Amino acid sequence: MSGRFTPRSRRETRATVLESLLRTGGAFRPSIARETNLTGASISRILTELRKENIIQETRRPAPYVGGPTALVTLSKDVAVAGIELSNSRLSFGVGDLDGTLDYVERMPASSQLSQDEFEILFRQSAANMRDWTRGRDVTIRQAAVSIPGYGRGTGNPIFAWDMARLTAFLEETLHGIPVSVTNSVVAQAAFHRYSISTAYPVADDHLFLFVGHGVAGVIVDETAPIDAFMAFELGHMVIQREGLPCRCGHKGCVEAYTSLRAISKILGIADSEILRRGDAFIEMLNLDGAMRAALRERLFLLGLGLGNALNLHPLSSVVVSGWPSLMPEADRRSILDGLNESLLGGYDENRLHLSFIAPSIGNDPRAALYYAAYCFVRGGGLDTRAETPAALQEIA
Ligand SMILES: [Zn+2]
Repeated sequence: MSGRFTPRSRRETRATVLESLLRTGGAFRPSIARETNLTGASISRILTELRKENIIQETRRPAPYVGGPTALVTLSKDVAVAGIELSNSRLSFGVGDLDGTLDYVERMPASSQLSQDEFEILFRQSAANMRDWTRGRDVTIRQAAVSIPGYGRGTGNPIFAWDMARLTAFLEETLHGIPVSVTNSVVAQAAFHRYSISTAYPVADDHLFLFVGHGVAGVIVDETAPIDAFMAFELGHMVIQREGLPCRCGHKGCVEAYTSLRAISKILGIADSEILRRGDAFIEMLNLDGAMRAALRERLFLLGLGLGNALNLHPLSSVVVSGWPSLMPEADRRSILDGLNESLLGGYDENRLHLSFIAPSIGNDPRAALYYAAYCFVRGGGLDTRAETPAALQEIA
């Protein structure tokens, strides 16, 4: 965060410190000061406050250098957040802590063409089950996040054509006052990759993050911008074949109809639920024959074709792909480059476009939404986001 902005209010200062801890997974005081551009005195005051509220904890650790600090500051394991995802033909509810550990998960089958009425019935039941679980353990959920494919701020949702005002009112009522944020599935995936410290992310600069799962969508990752400012774009619904395969959006020939997990499960001859159960190892477990690999390479080619078209509209020099293509042998992944070569203006040139791959964590829903909830909690400074008290907004002296 260094040099990006100067925090002013108490909420912003707390948010800056907490976001830094979420990103790093824990740090010593001098590096927090460096990361956040705050003085040692400010850091001390904020950490004391956060420790009293049990939002952070300090653990004695051997210092990384002689005479250095000995207390490692981490986010408290006692702050509970909820992640809720509509993805993979299921509605998943999870409760966990700020470092992504899920203590409670429930997944209910959900149609990929769920109506708003059906969604509300399913959600109400799952929310009641989650509430029973938290009550039994005396857990207070501080923040919830709901991720939905196709969701756009202010633009409605072309995939789930629901009334957005009704959705917001429904979530507030059903979650009984837990602060809740709604986001697009691919933005939640981007939050997972930004804040999950267990995965090494291959790119540090601005890039397109392309997620190829049950849905196919991209997000332009600006490393200096907060996650909730990201704009998702629905690359999966780019039509690449007139009168082609039917898509869940109602059109025919969309990228998603050829390249989503559900689309390739038909080539592989296994149920997509089985892919979710097996997770990232599913391709290795299949013993792909020559015909299957050739069919998958054709799908990768189409993905490259769509990707090149998207980059013609919004040029970027780096793309990170997360999804089943990341699990394919490198020789097969070259088909994406062939597709790019046929659509990207000027053709594919490795000096102009850097393509990298990251493991997708297939079937881990609702962990991405859980990370987004953790992000929303820290962005609010760990204060109750419903109460904009003068104290929360006061200037830091
Ligand atoms: Zn479509």
